[in-house]
Amino acid sequence: MAGRFAPSPTSDLHLGNLRTALLAWVYARAAALPCYVRIEDLDQCRIAAAPEIANRQLEDLATLGLDWDGPVLRQSERFDVYRAAAATLPTYECFCTRREIAAAAQAPHGSYRPYPGTCAHLSVAERDAKRRIRPPAIRVRAAAVRFGIRDRFAGAVTRTVDDFVLIRNDGLPAYNLAVVVDDGLQGVTQVTRGADLLDSAPRQAWLASRLGFTVPSYIHVGMAVNQAGDRLAKRDGAVTLRDLMAAGQDVATVYRSLTDSLGWPETASPRDLLTLVRKQPELLDAPRVSKPWTVAC
Ligand code: GLU
Repeated sequence: MAGRFAPSPTSDLHLGNLRTALLAWVYARAAALPCYVRIEDLDQCRIAAAPEIANRQLEDLATLGLDWDGPVLRQSERFDVYRAAAATLPTYECFCTRREIAAAAQAPHGSYRPYPGTCAHLSVAERDAKRRIRPPAIRVRAAAVRFGIRDRFAGAVTRTVDDFVLIRNDGLPAYNLAVVVDDGLQGVTQVTRGADLLDSAPRQAWLASRLGFTVPSYIHVGMAVNQAGDRLAKRDGAVTLRDLMAAGQDVATVYRSLTDSLGWPETASPRDLLTLVRKQPELLDAPRVSKPWTVAC
């Protein structure tokens, strides 16, 4: 049993990422679980552009006063593990482009667009012809099963599981596969992460159960947004820990802005916060945890 924080090393951690990291850490520690950090660096083109970002993220977590257990897992070192897991599932080759899927699919469901099954029943001849034009992605056959999860804040969330991609058509394992395999093999039982992934949770939970893993409990937490209500991004100004510190804020001030945004009493450090939530566990159910946080910048 464990919790985890799983950043994608595409840019330095900003206030929203730091808040999610703090929450992942405090929910795990409050439940007396180990807390792992996993670097989700599947997309090597994006990572290659800034290879040092993952280490900077780890330094930023430590600067904030967060610690973690065991070695840091890096997804880029585990492609064989993901491919082996995919090979145990019923799958088919899919040749659709994004545009074709958008044209054939229903409206997006929250953050994702269910695959309409276009390539689910191609004949051998059709497949051979398509292979000459495009390399295939590999989709799992989920047969539109309904699957539900329980989220600490959102409650019961049930979705239809579409035939989602396990292996992308550039050969890289897909995020939905890697996250489930890693959580399963690491014994992760508590998943704390941004609310943008709530809609993906039922299919990930379904995949976990198909692969024989324990389905984790979920805590989807509010995302940081700018004044316009859009997800916080680097272009919004000084929003990373490093930028804020370069602009003269000390780490205690940045830490306080995170706990203020949650409506939590002032504490000197994550360690002090842990002592506090052990005495007042109701703080962990504060409604503001799951609400978007508008950052003034
Ligand atoms: N790597 C994802 C992100 O940075 C999080 C995935 C997860 O926690 O399941 O948004």
